[in-house]
Amino acid sequence: MFDDLPKWLEKLQKTSTSSSLEKAIHGDRLTPVEIARLIEETPFYALSAAADFMARTKKRNRGSFTVNIYLTYTNVCTTSCSFCAFYSPPDSPNAYVIQPRKLAEVAKKAEENGVMEIHMVGGNNPDLPFDYYEKLISSIKERTKKVTLKAFTAEEIWFIAKNTGQKTREVLERFKELGLDSLSGGGAEVLDEEVQKIIAPKKVPPEEYLRVHEEAHKIGIKSNVTLMYGHIEEPINVARHLYRVRSIENRSPGFISFIPVRFNPGNTPLGRSDLYKRKAKVGGKYDLRIIASSRLALLGAIDNIVTYWVAMGEKLAQAALTHGANDLGGTFYQEAVISATGSFKVGKRPDELAFMIAQAGWEPWLRDTFYNYIDRINPIRMPWMNV
Ligand code: SF4
Repeated sequence: MFDDLPKWLEKLQKTSTSSSLEKAIHGDRLTPVEIARLIEETPFYALSAAADFMARTKKRNRGSFTVNIYLTYTNVCTTSCSFCAFYSPPDSPNAYVIQPRKLAEVAKKAEENGVMEIHMVGGNNPDLPFDYYEKLISSIKERTKKVTLKAFTAEEIWFIAKNTGQKTREVLERFKELGLDSLSGGGAEVLDEEVQKIIAPKKVPPEEYLRVHEEAHKIGIKSNVTLMYGHIEEPINVARHLYRVRSIENRSPGFISFIPVRFNPGNTPLGRSDLYKRKAKVGGKYDLRIIASSRLALLGAIDNIVTYWVAMGEKLAQAALTHGANDLGGTFYQEAVISATGSFKVGKRPDELAFMIAQAGWEPWLRDTFYNYIDRINPIRMPWMNV
């Protein structure tokens, strides 16, 4: 993979005595057990330095983000995941469904104000007919010119298919025909049955989640994939998740990014549970281990490791950019899901993201949904922002 590894990295790896690290930096694929060892046993200094080196070499020291807006078409959901503060049951006074015409208007205004990507997701709402989704995609595409539509998680595609009596492939093909550009990465949580049966027993099974992504890749829809960590999972659960994602990418390439998302307990049932209080890994070092291990476990398969500042917070997200991540995601104007936990309110301006990237020692670049670099951004340097 890297023919001439720098001497310092070879030495570092030897002093760390981590066979998982040795395999990873030489481009060998790790087993789930080896990935788990990478996460929990590899000395932090070696793990971080190796992941940072690989990220910067792979991405030619270009740190990136896009300008996006977060739209949610409904908060009604009957899947009732224990970690979710966003959804409302159908009979709740807080339940809403936004009409396609209105969302298309918002998308149009956003595009006029420089937004490049619509990131749109919603709950699993059993009352929405298939033509609601058709109108949603076609109205947005008709009202906008260049904006890309990154929408629906594999979870939503699976639910829509089940709810409307279709095959997931049929749903994907129809959505692509109407103008869907890529799949959003949410809904993965931890792709391991052991964890899923506790935190989200009604959710799409991990095998099915991955099958939907594979189907999307096969018909030319690229996709993103997340990992929600920092609750009751153990390193082996994260390792199985990473291994499964890599297996799909090796078989049917099409993942454009991997996005570890820290769980925000806020006002969620999972956050209030004894199990969470007993098991949660809340220290920032764990976040950085997850980022670094993701980079190394997916080396040669997925090039973009995103640090999701919305869930991680600004400072830790910036630190992640020195531990294997290369991208901040986007401006995330109007984010609604994480902010429902009470931990986040507004998006960030492009110059703020560019500054965060520059402070972490990367060249800040604006990119599109598919990680094509568009423009090098000059961060605005305010005196009070100095390192
Ligand atoms: S995470 Fe998604 S599927 Fe689960 S309850 Fe929230 S909106 Fe529904």
